[in-house]
Amino acid sequence: MTSKSPVVLTIAGFDPSGGAGIIADVRTIVEFGCRPVAAMTSLTFQNAAGVFGATHETAKSLRAQIVPVMQEHEIAAVKVGMLPIAELVSEVATFVRENRLPAPVVDPVLRSSSGYELMESDAVEVFVRELLPHARLLTPNIPEAESLTEVEICDEQDMRRAAAKLREMGARAVLIKGGHAQQRAEGRGQKAEGREATDLLDDEGELRILRGQWIEAPPVRGTGCMLSSAIAASLAHGADLITAVNAAKKYVAAEIQNSN
Ligand code: PLP
Repeated sequence: MTSKSPVVLTIAGFDPSGGAGIIADVRTIVEFGCRPVAAMTSLTFQNAAGVFGATHETAKSLRAQIVPVMQEHEIAAVKVGMLPIAELVSEVATFVRENRLPAPVVDPVLRSSSGYELMESDAVEVFVRELLPHARLLTPNIPEAESLTEVEICDEQDMRRAAAKLREMGARAVLIKGGHAQQRAEGRGQKAEGREATDLLDDEGELRILRGQWIEAPPVRGTGCMLSSAIAASLAHGADLITAVNAAKKYVAAEIQNSN
């Protein structure tokens, strides 16, 4: 990272244990040779065992974080993570709609792996209405894509249907991450060997199936945070979307591999 490195802003939750949220984002942004700046939406209380609570920022305190950073830096790309309450969703959407921030890579953080709700239901409604149409890319996992679209996802065809629905809802591009399909298969007693982790990218109607080898490893926290930050950092360097997504997938796969 140098003073010439592109600046990437993460607007996300703070996980003091470092597994997810801003710490995971900042680590990734630095790994991709960009300069991280951050605005915190929520201070969460958690560790690998679960999420125990959170205190949220307000629209005013979020704006008060972002504005001085924008005044000092030219923001090359933005990643948006946890937006727990409606007023925070609206605030971020306003910055983007008014072209004060670039169209962000948006990771819809609805609940933690342990099942704790990280976005209130009225915030989800505002998210769909106000932010989704202004994202450069939306990166839901399978449960998040199901919640947002009400399409049940069991196979690749369902992933296509859910992506098409998210695009009808106004998203410019959607990356549905297939990792949870593997957990479901395991729930049905299938072995992981030889299986794939398949993601689907729908970029303005251009579809790509991204097949990757399933990596046998204990669950790694924050993979969604890392992936969306890595995509934003690659876009900040001027990569096109598919190149950015592939570079990000490679990075996260290596992180999962190294966690073994
Ligand atoms: N906490 C924060 C601040 C997050 O941003 C996220 C996910 O993006 C989580 C918790 C959930 O992480 P996990 O799915 O690894 O439990």
